[in-house]
Amino acid sequence: MKTAIIILGPPGAGKGTQARLLSETLNFAHVSTGDILRTAIKNGTELGWRAKTFLEAGLLVPDELVDAIVCERLRQKDCGKGFILDGYPRTFAQADTLHEVLDQDDILTLVIGIRIPDEVLIARLGSRWICPNCNRTFSKLLSSGKLKGLCDKCSVELIHRADDAVEVITERLKIYHEQTESLVRYYQERGIYVPINGDQLPAKIFYAIRGVLEERKERMASALAEKAK
Ligand code: ADP
Repeated sequence: MKTAIIILGPPGAGKGTQARLLSETLNFAHVSTGDILRTAIKNGTELGWRAKTFLEAGLLVPDELVDAIVCERLRQKDCGKGFILDGYPRTFAQADTLHEVLDQDDILTLVIGIRIPDEVLIARLGSRWICPNCNRTFSKLLSSGKLKGLCDKCSVELIHRADDAVEVITERLKIYHEQTESLVRYYQERGIYVPINGDQLPAKIFYAIRGVLEERKERMASALAEKAK
């Protein structure tokens, strides 16, 4: 059955890292609205031009714009088996739009909520570097010895994301608490939300997520077997 995994969590929680690992392991498409928007800005497309001021200020891009991007992206062939949503939905309106698509296509959905205190996020984001080519992130906190200023994969020079400046981080966290965090309740009510402790090494977070997926798979299999009786 086609599956959607939504990674929910504040900026800096490690959504991108986990989404990438999951996408490689499960062979699901990785749909990151932040990456799509940053690429559009870099390429100077109309979307990029419309989104730029919002990203620079740490504000949310209007729902209509991101909804359209995601709906179009989910129709692409690589989403056929399943997809990981990273950075979407971020508002109730986006969640409603998404669920029309998911319900209509009968897509099994699981939400992984990465939980982590603000102080940890602020320290992490301030020391985060990104590859402008493949969007992979690197942290001085995690790989102080290894980090030589180049991407492991592309050997391109790493940069700081403009919206990782301290003032913008504060704004992004504020918006997360005001607009996105309440989606936790939205998904808890649907019984598809699983919280994960994000204040640990990426490999440990991934291990915890894999455990949740295995457990869910077993539960689903027994529910289907029950139905078939
Ligand atoms: P982070 O989760 O670290 O903030 P993202 O790469 O997911 O980083 O998002 C970066 C920026 O892109 C956001 O601050 C916002 O301006 C824009 N953006 C990404 N996803 C959405 C979305 N679903 N709705 C509105 N704006 C978005």
